[in-house]
Amino acid sequence: MDARLGDTHVRFRQEVRAFLDRELTGDIREGARRQAGIAADPSVGVAWQKKLNAHGWGAPAWPKEYGGTGWDAAQRQIFDEECIRAGAPSVWVSGLQLLGPVVMRFGTSEQKAFFLPRILDSEHYWAQGFSEPGSGSDLASLQMPAVRDGDDYVVSGTKIWTSHAHWANWIFLLVRTEKTANKRDGITFMVTPADAPGITVQPIISMSGEHETNQVFFDNVRIPVRYRIGAEGQGWDIAKYLLEFERSGAYAALSQSYLDIARRNARIPDPVTGERLWDDPCFRRDYADAQLRVTAQSWTEKRVISALSSGKNAGDALASILKVRGTEAQQASFEVSVTSLGAFGMADQREALRPGSNTPPIGPEGALQPTARHLNGRAASIYGGSNEIQRNILFRFIADGRIP
Ligand SMILES: Cc1cc2nc3c(=O)[nH]c(=O)nc-3n(C[C@H](O)[C@H](O)[C@H](O)COP(=O)(O)OP(=O)(O)OC[C@H]3O[C@@H](n4cnc5c(N)ncnc54)[C@H](O)[C@@H]3O)c2cc1C
Repeated sequence: MDARLGDTHVRFRQEVRAFLDRELTGDIREGARRQAGIAADPSVGVAWQKKLNAHGWGAPAWPKEYGGTGWDAAQRQIFDEECIRAGAPSVWVSGLQLLGPVVMRFGTSEQKAFFLPRILDSEHYWAQGFSEPGSGSDLASLQMPAVRDGDDYVVSGTKIWTSHAHWANWIFLLVRTEKTANKRDGITFMVTPADAPGITVQPIISMSGEHETNQVFFDNVRIPVRYRIGAEGQGWDIAKYLLEFERSGAYAALSQSYLDIARRNARIPDPVTGERLWDDPCFRRDYADAQLRVTAQSWTEKRVISALSSGKNAGDALASILKVRGTEAQQASFEVSVTSLGAFGMADQREALRPGSNTPPIGPEGALQPTARHLNGRAASIYGGSNEIQRNILFRFIADGRIP
């Protein structure tokens, strides 16, 4: 692989830096500094997405014909790295990363014309209604029935762990339109406005104290047939396509930023004893372990990009490998960053993390986020298909010879 950047990409990096210097203004930067979950609070994330979109950078991964940037894989990685380095907020991905590609591939021309511009502009804020109580890893066992009645489907039941549903104004769903011998055959993909009569959202508070996920109840909700994406019974194929986008992702840059926090803090001498955590062999072992994982992940991500940029297929197994190794590297780096804070790692910073809060953060520079990130990041090896399930997938690749 050739991981060197050519002149075009070096110039592109400068262009991104100049844009971030100019556009990442005080409020947005401050809001991002308080982000502890997977995405910024919508008050910050939506404002940032609108700025990106106004500049033509709203959808780095989308093709140009749908309003995307048309960037190559290396440009996308550079953009991600620079955004993390500059402290830009992470934009909520359900619309951009998951639903957008589905609409492009399976939607009608009316659906494309209606949904895609509204996703780009964040006018539609999407939640993903796939999991149900009892149907997570075994997603195809989902039960929520949708019964055709004239020009509508009538949907009743419940979805769980629905992230950001309390902010979303639209939800995409997998529902069961038929009970078939093969449970994958009777599943259909549809979307609904989140304020449709009969929908209620109940919060689930995570161990980091955040409200990110919800249980959503559907009581005879009428969903017009025009909001079905693809054919009746095609939902499983659509879900598999969507999940490829959920699993591929860049983990190394964010993980490295937390290792940088750890290195900085561990070198600050204790005010009483003068000792530095950096000189503690146990800390150094954990730090080195996390750094090795993150460096390896970074090279795997570069390898994928190098393959994609030269038009090669990166390999089917890579989405699973990136997810397993990426989330584990990230969890290790978050954990080390908490350890580096010593007693400050135990401080309850929930109030200081609230957007708009004037409660000052406790502890040294960079002490605000690590504990919340660490607690929040435990879920990364569960959502998007748990790491155990990814290992099962990898085993199947090995068993049938697709991975030597
Ligand atoms: C923070 C968070 C946000 C989420 N957001 C969303 C969302 O927005 N929309 C949505 O639809 N869902 C969401 N989910 C749900 C997520 O996709 C599921 O939690 C996940 O698929 C696991 O399903 P489960 O919780 O039912 O656990 P289970 O499937 O019951 O699994 C329990 C444990 O058993 C293991 N296990 C299960 N089957 C096997 C097997 N065959 N082999 C080996 N091990 C196995 C799993 O790895 C796991 O450790 C979210 C979850 C979390 C935690």
